[in-house]
Amino acid sequence: MNGTVALVTGGSRGIGAATALRLAQEGADVAITYVQGKDAAEDVVRRVEALGRRGLALRADAADAAEAPGAVDRTVEALGRLDVLVNNAGLGVLGPMESLALADIDRVLAVNVRGVLLTSRAAVAHMPRGGRIITIGSCMTQRVPGPGGTLYATGKAALIGLTKALARELGDRGITSNIVHPGPIDTDMNPGDGPQAPAQAAMTAIGRYGTADEVASLVAYLAGAEAGYVTGAELAVDGGFAA
Ligand code: NDP
Repeated sequence: MNGTVALVTGGSRGIGAATALRLAQEGADVAITYVQGKDAAEDVVRRVEALGRRGLALRADAADAAEAPGAVDRTVEALGRLDVLVNNAGLGVLGPMESLALADIDRVLAVNVRGVLLTSRAAVAHMPRGGRIITIGSCMTQRVPGPGGTLYATGKAALIGLTKALARELGDRGITSNIVHPGPIDTDMNPGDGPQAPAQAAMTAIGRYGTADEVASLVAYLAGAEAGYVTGAELAVDGGFAA
């Protein structure tokens, strides 16, 4: 990926940080967005730079209709181009439907759905042939194993439609669009030592949580030249959660 530029939304921690570092290892210059974790984001940038690549940390709230696409423009301005967009920023608000405040519903859909649409739209305006849009979905779009996931699964399932429609819209420009469905992955959002962890691990075929690096590895494959004929696809990295 030498000479390419990637933008990873929500890249200060978890799957996004692992993805940013993996893409840098593959040779890409990498911009990341964050909202709260300025220090963590700057640490990721330092690690990208230690790999010999350029890094950029951008505070950009995916829920904000100007900041989300603005991160794309700021990336192109600072790093000169955009080849790969990883739509990773996401929120998990779980709970019975009756307990959800309207503000929670609006925020989750703004970050997990509208932000992805607006960022993708801004990105394709800059992407050359060979461009890549990789969106992080969820195993909850394939199988909802219990109550409390209605809001989260609704938003993540919308990304499947977005991914496939973008693949059709962008195919003749040589740009691919794919969605990756992680299973339970050990991050701040879903700690592998949390109270729900044993039950979630038991729902996989492999019997354990996955790591952020295991998701990043699949994203890196999709971002690379070898994946040029993969588009409109849903790919699971879920330990068999949906099997
Ligand atoms: P984390 O909560 O560990 O990290 C979330 C990242 O997103 C942080 O860098 C955070 O930045 C950033 N972020 C949060 N809100 C916003 C926002 N409004 N705008 C921009 N950035 C934001 O999450 P994970 O790494 O676990 O999850 C990453 C993606 O993977 C999400 O889309 C999630 O839904 C999905 N996923 C995760 C699974 C899991 O088990 N962990 C399973 C399936 C899917 P900061 O806090 O620094 O501002």
